[in-house]
Amino acid sequence: MISVTSRDFLDMQIEEFIISSEKVAHVQMGNSAEHALLVLTKTGYSSIPVLDSKYRLKGLVSTQRITDAILGLDHIEYERLPDLKVDLLMQSPVPSIHINEKFKKGLDLLINHPFLCVVDDEETFVGILTRRVVLKQLKKHIYQNNQ
Ligand code: AMP
Repeated sequence: MISVTSRDFLDMQIEEFIISSEKVAHVQMGNSAEHALLVLTKTGYSSIPVLDSKYRLKGLVSTQRITDAILGLDHIEYERLPDLKVDLLMQSPVPSIHINEKFKKGLDLLINHPFLCVVDDEETFVGILTRRVVLKQLKKHIYQNNQ
């Protein structure tokens, strides 16, 4: 039977597993939906963080939300994209986790979200914790302990 027995594993800090903010595609408050759609399409991600000028986490914007906002009765109103601001479209509050949290908390929250935004005490965005990274660690741990 496979077991994850080590308490130490679940008590590890998430800090070492996060993708740091410099590597995370994001948009800023005030950016247009057109810009956000460009970033989303170019990166291939379905959802990215929205930050303010001080790098504080404000929301998440997704392709689905943008498309939904420009759905007309019989066509998609692409012409509205430049004037729509991400501030109006973004999901808020955002699934997030504090940088000092443990692996176990990340694991619990990632059941319902593909990634979590990681913040510090000032709500400054420091990166993301993805389901992929956590599953990789879990797999490594299970394999090491069940040889
Ligand atoms: P993954 O687990 O790598 O498939 O990532 C899951 C989700 O996390 C993606 O669909 C994106 O929404 C987000 N994500 C992962 N890596 C990045 C990144 N470098 N920049 C922005 N968003 C990301």
